[in-house]
Amino acid sequence: MPKLSKLALHGGSKVINYTFKKYNSIGEAEANAVQQVMESGVLSKYLGAWHQDFYGGVKVLEFEKKCEEYFDVKHAITVNSWTSGLIAAVGAIGINPGDEVIVSPWTMSATAMAILHWNAIPVFADINQNTFNLNPESIVKNITSQTKAIMVADIFGQSADMTSILAIAKKYNLKVLSDSAQSPGAIYKGKFAGTLADIGGYSLNYHKHIHTGEGGILVTDNFELAERMRLIRNHAESVVEGMEVSNISNMIGYNFRLGEIECAIGIEQLKKLDQSIAVRQRLASRLTDGLKELIGLQTPFIEEGSTHVYYVYPMVLNVNLLRQTRDKISEALKAEGVPVVSRYQNLHLLPIFQKKIAYGEYGFPWNSDICRREVSYEKGICPVAENLNDSAYLGIGMCLYDYSDQDIDLIITAFKKVWNNIKLL
Ligand SMILES: *Cc1c(COP(=O)(O)O)cnc(C)c1O
Repeated sequence: MPKLSKLALHGGSKVINYTFKKYNSIGEAEANAVQQVMESGVLSKYLGAWHQDFYGGVKVLEFEKKCEEYFDVKHAITVNSWTSGLIAAVGAIGINPGDEVIVSPWTMSATAMAILHWNAIPVFADINQNTFNLNPESIVKNITSQTKAIMVADIFGQSADMTSILAIAKKYNLKVLSDSAQSPGAIYKGKFAGTLADIGGYSLNYHKHIHTGEGGILVTDNFELAERMRLIRNHAESVVEGMEVSNISNMIGYNFRLGEIECAIGIEQLKKLDQSIAVRQRLASRLTDGLKELIGLQTPFIEEGSTHVYYVYPMVLNVNLLRQTRDKISEALKAEGVPVVSRYQNLHLLPIFQKKIAYGEYGFPWNSDICRREVSYEKGICPVAENLNDSAYLGIGMCLYDYSDQDIDLIITAFKKVWNNIKLL
């Protein structure tokens, strides 16, 4: 049947000629939980003053307790987005303007923006080609006398190399923050991703494993950091007196409060996390079984002692071996109906860093006394991340669709079809 083997890119039939079912984790349990809050009439109970309601209402407290139990941490703090959570975390560690924080370029922009928010300077280290997470050697190369912290991103669903990173942090006396937005439930050597850092946490936005529409959860075992984040969450400046807080640095409070409805939804969503991860792991392993024989295609690499929760199913192409460009291959796969994505992030190349324009028009904070050295964001500083984005990375979003086994098998068929015709692309 020549029609079937002819690439869709060249006018042949598509392997996948329907759209996958959208993933939807919201059901009756969430609807009932919302109804209950609605009937109570209390949609948020926070008070931005020193009062027993400073820490939120019943659903906030209940959801936080459930998160503490699930993630096995002393403190879980809900916030209205994980972006807010990142800002609270950077403020809490006592960052000073001009301090440098080492961060991955291969993450969502909010990871680096949280650093800039406190007028600290993001310094990009390169990533590991297999895991897409920060490369410890590159972290060490980027440490200066101004470095205050390392901001790790547990990207795509797998923890960064925390053993090495915590050892570096200890040696150089740095704090470690973990953006585990995409990796709730992932295991690293017996602990949950995000819980090994001084502060970690997860996103609850619509696109993530579990969600409350918008929202985030901060986790830490450190009481002082937890209290500082709770203050930043809720108008710190006006309560530090009543609460007799002695360290008032960075007590510039925001309103980062998550409401009762979202927390009620979160309680139900958290119950579903294990199951949804198990489904994704099974589907990903089916995909890997089907793709692992294809030459020049690296399927997800899982570090010893880690589990991957597959926010994204990431792959790397060996384009020299394939003698074909990533973009051509990606185009051919898309034409067959595979929801493949061929780019992620090179944050250092964003205009904000290229032009060094953040606050106002005059280059603050870089072009000011608080920035004590010239920090480079030039192309070339993160060769691995750049090469992946420019020519080798391919990913499939695993939280987008409620894939069936048949969907996965058709994705495999489409890959095989493209690989069989790779010279013809
Ligand atoms: C989603 C995401 C964020 C932002 O989370 P929000 O809850 O949308 O603010 C930050 N970092 C990473 C890596 C993410 O994937």
